[in-house]
Amino acid sequence: MGSREEQPTHDLILPNDRVRSSGNVCRFLLILKERCCMKLVHYKEHLRSQRIHRACPICQSSRRHLIFKQRFDGPQNSSLLAGYHVVSCAYCGFVYADCIPEQAAFDGYYRRFSKYEYGHQGGEVSRSDIRTFERLANFIYRARVHRRSAILDVGCATGALLSVLGKRGFKDLHGMDPSLACAKTAARLYGIPVITGSVFDLDLRHGQYDLIILTGVLEHIRDVQAAVQKVVARLTPQGHLLAGVPDALGLAAAHNAPFQQFSVEHINFFTPTSLTNLMAAAGLKRIVQMRMMREQGIGTTEPTVVGIYRRGFGPVKLRLDLQGRAALQKYVAKSKEADRHTRKIIRHATRGGRKIVIWGVGTLTQRLLAAGILKREHIAAFVDSSPKMQGGTLVGQRILAPAELRARPEAIIIASWMFQKEIYAQIKKHLRLPNAVIKLYDVHCRRR
Ligand SMILES: [Zn+2]
Repeated sequence: MGSREEQPTHDLILPNDRVRSSGNVCRFLLILKERCCMKLVHYKEHLRSQRIHRACPICQSSRRHLIFKQRFDGPQNSSLLAGYHVVSCAYCGFVYADCIPEQAAFDGYYRRFSKYEYGHQGGEVSRSDIRTFERLANFIYRARVHRRSAILDVGCATGALLSVLGKRGFKDLHGMDPSLACAKTAARLYGIPVITGSVFDLDLRHGQYDLIILTGVLEHIRDVQAAVQKVVARLTPQGHLLAGVPDALGLAAAHNAPFQQFSVEHINFFTPTSLTNLMAAAGLKRIVQMRMMREQGIGTTEPTVVGIYRRGFGPVKLRLDLQGRAALQKYVAKSKEADRHTRKIIRHATRGGRKIVIWGVGTLTQRLLAAGILKREHIAAFVDSSPKMQGGTLVGQRILAPAELRARPEAIIIASWMFQKEIYAQIKKHLRLPNAVIKLYDVHCRRR
C-alpha cells in the first residue's frame, strides 16, 4: 500500500519543467492542492490501519457509531490501555470498546496485576460482596439447579461465591482463576480446588460441568465470543451457563466516580438484550434473567444483569438492542457534569501554583490526568496502597507507599470514590497525618 501511495495517479502527473503559462501555473497549483489532499487522505488511512480495530464481538459487523473517546495516562510498567473508543454496533446495537490491544495483552495483565486476591483482608471478600453472592445463590436455587450438579466458577477470585453455594448444599464445587494467589487462598479458606488459568485455558482435561458461572468476567474480555464458546464446550448436554455483567441500562443511576465504568479493565458494556444476543450467537437460549443494583463498596453501587442460559434447539436469532447506545450517552452526559465539579475542586486546591499529593493511581487518576483536569505540574507525588503500584512512576512522578507521606506538607487529594472513606480513615486515624485532605465526591453510605 505504501508504494502505491508514493505514485501519483496518471491524472496527477506533472509534465517536467512545462509550467509556462499562467494557465499552466493555475493548473500546477490545482494539481499540487489535489496531491496534498490525496496525501492527507492516504495519511489518515495509514493512521487508521495502525489502530487495532475490533469488529462487533457479537455480530462481527464493522459498522459502528462513536459514543465517547476514553483516554488514560497510566503508570509505567503496569499500564494496559492508553484509552479506547466506546462505540455502538450499527447492526446489533452492542456497545463495546474499540481500538484496544489483542487478547494476549489482557491475559498478561491479569496474571501480573490481579486485584482480586484481597490480600489486605486475608483473602476474604467484603460483606457487600457476600450479600451479592447470597442473591446469586438464591437465583441459582430458583432456577432449579440440582444440588448434585458439578459447578465451575470461572474467574472465582478467592472462591467466596462457591463457599456460599457450599453452605446451600452444593457439594461438587470447582474454581478457576488466572491468579495463583487466589487459587491458594480458595484452598486455604474454603477447601475449594481452583484451576489456575483463564477461560481460554479450559479444555478437555477439565471435564464437563452442569453449571458454569461467569460473573464479572465477560466485561473484561476482548475475544468474548471465543470465551463463551470455550465454556459451552465444557457444559454437559443439559448444562447451564450463568453470566453476570454490569448492566449498561442502569449506569446513569449508579453511585460511582464519573466514567468509572469506562475503566482500564472494562471493554464490553452489556444490556440485558446484548447479553442474551452474545449467548444466542453461541447457540444458547435464555432461561431466566434478573437485573439488580449491587453494592460494590461503601456508598458505591453497580447495576448488574444476571442470566441463566442453556443450549437452544435450532437457530437462535439476535434481537436489535435499541437501548444500549442511548443509555451510554446518558451516562456520558452525567459523568461530564460530575467532572465539571471535580475540575473546580482541583483548580481551587492548586491555586497560586500550590502542589498536591494524589492518593490513588487507578482509573480515576489516569483519566483525570489524560483529560487535563489533573495537571502534572501541580503534583508533588502519588500514593497508592497497592504494593504492586508502589515504586513505579506516573507522569514522571514516583508512586509512594502511604508511610512515605510523613513529613510532607502538601494537601492530599483522595482520587477514589469507592475507597474514599477508607483512605480518609487511613490518613487521619492510622497514619495520623496533619495534612489537609480534599475529597472529590460526596459519598453517602447507602444500604440496599
Ligand atoms: Zn453487532
